[in-house]
Amino acid sequence: MNGNSLLEYMKDNKIRTEEMEKLNNYFKQINSMSPFPIIDTEVIMNLDNKLKNNKIDYDSEPVICCAHCKELTIKIDEYNNEFCVLCKNSLNETEIHPTIFHWLNKYKNKDIIDE
Ligand SMILES: [Zn+2]
Repeated sequence: MNGNSLLEYMKDNKIRTEEMEKLNNYFKQINSMSPFPIIDTEVIMNLDNKLKNNKIDYDSEPVICCAHCKELTIKIDEYNNEFCVLCKNSLNETEIHPTIFHWLNKYKNKDIIDE
């Protein structure tokens, strides 16, 4: 099994990032205990790259909140409409904030006035 087919196998079997990380550390441990690499170093290199790509920095991702209640309870229906789970009647009435911190500063430091 080469590095790429192992990654395909993991994707097909929905192996989670944490499990991939554990496996990768295990491979490295095995290799460090032997005079020559038992696990193909290409496999480890591919896993390292894959794990690096999987790490999304959620703190710098934009967030969408409801324009009415200002909560992050927006879902997308089968027609790609954004609706608020709390307000129910709001459709495609959302606000986008560049990060979660912008939203927290704007709405979570003060009371939301009911209209
Ligand atoms: Zn709402």
